[in-house]
Amino acid sequence: MVDRGVSEEVEAQTCFMISSVPYSDSKLELIRRHTALDEDCKVLIEYIMKGWPSKIYIMNDKMRVFWSYRESLQYIDGLILKNNQIFIPVCLRDEMLSRVHEGHLGIDRCKQRARDVMFWPGMSRDVVGHVRACATCAMHAPRPRREPARPHPVPDRPWLKLGSDIFEYRRKYYVILVDYFSNYVEVNELNSICSKAVINALKEQFGRHGIPIELVTDNGPAYSSAEFKKFLESWEVRHTTSSPHYPQSNGKSERAVQSVKNILKKCIDSGHDFHLSLLNFRTTPRDDMDSPAQILMCRRLHNRLPMSRKLMYESVDNSKNYQALMSHKKKSNSNYNKTARDLPTLKQGDRVVLAGDNIGRPVKVIAKSSEPRSYIVEDAVGRRYRRNRRHLVARQPAPAQPGPAVSCAAPQLITDKGALPSASASDTPTSIVTGPVTRSKTRTHAGLGLDLNNLF
Ligand SMILES: [Zn+2]
Repeated sequence: MVDRGVSEEVEAQTCFMISSVPYSDSKLELIRRHTALDEDCKVLIEYIMKGWPSKIYIMNDKMRVFWSYRESLQYIDGLILKNNQIFIPVCLRDEMLSRVHEGHLGIDRCKQRARDVMFWPGMSRDVVGHVRACATCAMHAPRPRREPARPHPVPDRPWLKLGSDIFEYRRKYYVILVDYFSNYVEVNELNSICSKAVINALKEQFGRHGIPIELVTDNGPAYSSAEFKKFLESWEVRHTTSSPHYPQSNGKSERAVQSVKNILKKCIDSGHDFHLSLLNFRTTPRDDMDSPAQILMCRRLHNRLPMSRKLMYESVDNSKNYQALMSHKKKSNSNYNKTARDLPTLKQGDRVVLAGDNIGRPVKVIAKSSEPRSYIVEDAVGRRYRRNRRHLVARQPAPAQPGPAVSCAAPQLITDKGALPSASASDTPTSIVTGPVTRSKTRTHAGLGLDLNNLF
């Protein structure tokens, strides 16, 4: 028999933490009950309490999978723990996978969420399978994006530098605030997009989390009004605006808008609670960092996943988080420079699908637009859009007989410029009036030919 590998002192301390909280957690109670009933758990507990066999081949097949982490397993207060993560018995795993995926966060975030608080052998693989099987996620798979090439300097404490942006979804306007350090996102619905409404929303959030030193926005009307300028001056916030020629410098807010919009859409589609999904988003660790909520509030917020008492009391080391953030930024910047190259040019007649808001809609390339790297495309019912090359996903190899060379003289377009200073103007279907619409003869409603594996 080998040593149990668990320090008595640590165990005593954990026991104290578990028993000293006069708090009944129905999630933990459920896991306790199933741990006691599960046959594999019974064997596992026996090993943990009485010692492991001296050789792996003595064990039965089912138990061998636990051999490599036998030293980090503990049985405390009716729960099997690996370090601080709770072991989930087989019959509860589906339920936990659903909880992990509430709010339809992507594969990586779901894996992080799961690993943060619980474990079972093959858990990551199960999470991937669960997310890939989700129809809502496939519908709203994000388009490929690039990291900004020139990252903003970030202060080493949360909520000092914030980004803000406004977006519209289903005729409602929202303003978001995102913290450059923690990535914590606040969302307010607006009753109008005038400066006053945006100012009120920001005041509410500054009143809650504190006044930042710097606010980064685009040059939209709400952010460039005299009223907004006066507000920031009197609250002593430095205002940095993105240049019209370099809109990526507002990339942090734009990515946050994408994430929040995705959550919102999926919640509307699937009937999930938006606020619960936001909580899940905020309590998900990322890029070797603690979760946004942990970094900002220095504690773990409760969500619908179970959490061991030890994690509940764990302190947050923001200097470690800052180092992780810096090394991630350095890495993504050098990756960007490595992969930043132009996508293959499209030819007239090429069949592509739209990425982003109209994900999966098959379209045909009509002409190259006068804007750099943009194309005019037409869908099956003859509607035309102008899209950046980056938002067009090649559906299949170009036809054997390519059409005539695409002329740069684009059809005359009348774009419908909305009143909203949307940060992601390219997301808004540019309604284009091109005179009489030539309908495509080769209408297609066939399968989209998308490889789902590439979408996540
Ligand atoms: Zn999903």
